[in-house]
Amino acid sequence: MKSSLDLWLKSHKSTAKRPLNLLLALGLFNGLLLIVQAYFLALIVNEVVIHSAPLAEFYLPLFAILGLFLLRALLAWWLEFYAQQAAVLIKQKIRLLLYDKLQRLGPLYLQGQRSGELVNSLSDGVEALQAYYSQYLPALSSVALLPLAILVVVFPLDWWSGLVFLLTAPAIPVFMILIGKGAEALSQKQWQKLARLSAHFLDMIQGLSTLKLFNASRREAQAVAQISEEYRRSSMKVLRVAFLSSLVLEFFATVSVAIVAVLIGFRLLWGEMDFQIGFFILLLAPEFYLPLRQMGTHYHARMEGIGAAEKMVELLNEPLPNVVHDPLPLPAGTAEIELKEVDFVYDKGEPVLHGLNLKIEPGERLAIVGPSGAGKSTLMNLLLGFAQPSSGELRLGGVLSSRVALEQWHERIAWVPQSPTLFQGSLAENIVLGMAQASEAEMIVAAEQAGAHEFICQLPQGYATQIGEAGVGLSGGQIQRIALARAFLKRAQLLLLDEASANLDLYSESLVIEAMATLPKESSLIFIAHRLSTLRVADRIVVLDQGRVAAEGSHEQLLASSPLYQRLYQGYRGVSCP
Ligand code: ADP
Repeated sequence: MKSSLDLWLKSHKSTAKRPLNLLLALGLFNGLLLIVQAYFLALIVNEVVIHSAPLAEFYLPLFAILGLFLLRALLAWWLEFYAQQAAVLIKQKIRLLLYDKLQRLGPLYLQGQRSGELVNSLSDGVEALQAYYSQYLPALSSVALLPLAILVVVFPLDWWSGLVFLLTAPAIPVFMILIGKGAEALSQKQWQKLARLSAHFLDMIQGLSTLKLFNASRREAQAVAQISEEYRRSSMKVLRVAFLSSLVLEFFATVSVAIVAVLIGFRLLWGEMDFQIGFFILLLAPEFYLPLRQMGTHYHARMEGIGAAEKMVELLNEPLPNVVHDPLPLPAGTAEIELKEVDFVYDKGEPVLHGLNLKIEPGERLAIVGPSGAGKSTLMNLLLGFAQPSSGELRLGGVLSSRVALEQWHERIAWVPQSPTLFQGSLAENIVLGMAQASEAEMIVAAEQAGAHEFICQLPQGYATQIGEAGVGLSGGQIQRIALARAFLKRAQLLLLDEASANLDLYSESLVIEAMATLPKESSLIFIAHRLSTLRVADRIVVLDQGRVAAEGSHEQLLASSPLYQRLYQGYRGVSCP
């Protein structure tokens, strides 16, 4: 599992091919410059200190060292730049992938998810990959380059030192892997804790007024404190392992350099080695182990990356609810909708719709009523294309819903959910959402129909008023009216509304009912009704009960024939049932 996560992370390398290749080339060049720099230094020290040559003779190599030093500083800056650029490019791609997948999974999938966790993996999770791509991956791909170059230089000069390098080098990665095995599991746990923490915070922010009123904020705070504590512990465990691994790597690198130094020292003492060569190799020894040690340091980035990737891969591997491989075009004009013996079962659980038969003619105004839990929203989800029947047929304009391309279907429908969502931006932007071609006059007409124009004009900045996320700063009824305006503006062939007037005052409600009644003849309207006033707009009313059509007909017919409708109707009038 972990190695597959690592493979998944690595598979995105191709997105940043150019910066990563440049990193590799520049890294190697930097390493070669280092070897040359060490050579000049060894030469000068050998001549000036051992052979007492005047320093003045070595100005040229001295300047060369200075030049190399500056060049390497510049290269280091460049390396950092390309490393960051590669990471940013890859993060961008992963974000798009995740966003695209969420879009395709649709709202039904999201209903079953903890949104705090999801947001955490989309924001912090993707951000946590920065170090993986900017530090670990470049370190990994260049780990062997400089040591190999140093081996090529050192072996012909002194094969003893070359041998020590060759034999000690593998110990570092071997230990790193041994330590890393346990560390990955710890890191994954740390991410899971962080995700739970985010979910709790989101609940707390969204439900703050409830928590306060029910005196439960202390209880929730205790829960957050407990998870924070668990998170702290798992973070400390991860850090402990990270420090331990760094310590082990430093220790091995130091011991290895010491072995090389002792071997060189003895041979210098016995006069078996030239000082310049010995000193040159000694200068190179720490550099030989440096990339391996750096790998150890960046191993922490790998663990973190893998921990964060778990939820992303899980999301990306979710099976798509309705992939249409070979879509059939919808016929022109308003589509007839037909459900034949439709059953629907949510992922886990009992059937929610049973053998539903329903035909909705083009231009029909159909109201759906039923007690809560009857399956009204589920039926809407089917009509919206967010779910497919578990068995039976749903046909849109004669075409099986499983063969219709969702985008084409969505072009034809407009939807106002029970709690509509507004987005950051101006009111005008929220109304014309996705319909950039709409003119200002059309927008105003739609707002008037939805009963929104009046209150918008009373705001100091009118349609340019900026609103916060999810419509912060507007009342429930105002949000509903903006969402209605958005739906009316689309002039869709099918308008789906869920309890559209639930949040409206009587005046706005009358405006909305008028708008519903005056929708173009060819547009169909299907709405979940909770008020008697909106029921009057309907040509036909379907009474749903426990996932079945219990009765259907006009208001008068149902009142005379359906006891359930009578009870609901009493409820609508505000009279409590016995
Ligand atoms: P209504 O809109 O009429 O109140 P719903 O369509 O929301 O009814 O729900 C019908 C049944 O389906 C209920 O028993 C509800 O518990 C169940 N249900 C709704 N959404 C889900 C879901 N995402 N997963 C599992 N069961 C669900």
